[in-house]
Amino acid sequence: MIHALSILGSTGSIGRQSLAAAERLNVPVRALAAHRNIDLLERQVRRFSPRLAAVYDSAAAGLLRVALADTPTKVVSGMEGLIEAASLEECDCVVTAVSGSVGLRPTLAAIARGKRIALANKETLVCAGELVMQRAREHSAEIVPVDSEHSAIFQSLGGRLGSPRLRSILLTASGGPFRGLTKEQTYHKTPAEAVAHPNWSMGAKISVDSATMMNKGLEFIEAMRLFSVRPEQIRVLIHPQSVVHSAVEFVDGSVIAQLGIPDMGLPIQYAMTWPDRMETWTAPLDLFRLSDLHFEAPDLENFPCLALAMDAAKRGGTAPAILSAANEAAVGLFLREKLPFGKIAECVAAALDSIKITEKPGLNELLSVDAQARKYVMEMR
Ligand code: NDP
Ligand code: MG
Repeated sequence: MIHALSILGSTGSIGRQSLAAAERLNVPVRALAAHRNIDLLERQVRRFSPRLAAVYDSAAAGLLRVALADTPTKVVSGMEGLIEAASLEECDCVVTAVSGSVGLRPTLAAIARGKRIALANKETLVCAGELVMQRAREHSAEIVPVDSEHSAIFQSLGGRLGSPRLRSILLTASGGPFRGLTKEQTYHKTPAEAVAHPNWSMGAKISVDSATMMNKGLEFIEAMRLFSVRPEQIRVLIHPQSVVHSAVEFVDGSVIAQLGIPDMGLPIQYAMTWPDRMETWTAPLDLFRLSDLHFEAPDLENFPCLALAMDAAKRGGTAPAILSAANEAAVGLFLREKLPFGKIAECVAAALDSIKITEKPGLNELLSVDAQARKYVMEMR
């Protein structure tokens, strides 16, 4: 069991649920970090009394510093502030729940200090998965996935990040709010329609990713990196009920799956208690009421983002980093109503076609292609 937490992205959907888990498990929280939602961050600081609060936006950090003048909590800002929150000596576990590849450098900083990473921030693994996993091995830092599918795979592997007897991964997907629709029918969907997910309540960016199915594409790459498998070993299955959170097939044909109600509180808590388990508050899974579990192949024609991600996974090198950063930029524009829904995939495809893909990139090269891809999308629209 862990002793003290740092939560990066504490004001978001996963961050808030991580604080709830910390409270239930009675684990102290020593560092919090957010982008600019200082109203909520101030309330969190007053409740959890962390030693450090990091606010990426420096103007917002200044305001929070004034608001918290009566408390001992130190307020820091910028990327250095995030890294300080990820590196705090007394925390042995860092929940990476920021949205986007901004989580990469803080994650690497936590790994360098040998901390457990409760990893929600999938964009980090998509951008630099090989590097992150290699550094984790070098520093004996435990990576425990929070993403529900990857937690399911991890649990199905007996709480491990792989097995020499693993044949394939069955990665399940709800299909999102636009399942069954054509490209033409979704082209002009609005942000409000895209974020209305049938089974999960999540932050805006990942909700849009679920609607385009880029989320499953990012998870495809996340699974390759976490569990050291080749793209041919991963099969995506549409499973609208979100009960089977994913499964693994071993070389003898045995399939082991993890099932549960769709509630992120469970994988979050497991990442904190692993290799142990603790009781939770959730209703039990009632299989009698779920007799109609359904599985089908994904529609790559009408959900091109998934196809683009699977292709980037096969190309490797800098391709996943370009894909993820271009997608982040395009989703940001879509959420601000500056880009139609259908153009998200077009932006990602164009960025992948235009930016040179190289093999075996180092950290600086990955950060550079990330910036190039964002710039490309901002200029193309
Ligand atoms: P939200 O949008 O709800 O929250 C994002 C959090 O990140 C907020 O606390 C936000 O701060 C913070 N943040 C964003 N940018 C920065 C920055 N530059 N510096 C510091 N903090 C920043 O996202 P989710 O909680 O939904 O998702 C977080 C991550 O977890 C994503 O990578 C997502 O893919 C992954 N994930 C989420 C799941 C879910 O159910 N929500 C499921 C599986 C994975 P502020 O509030 O100030 O903007
Ligand atoms: Mg997921």
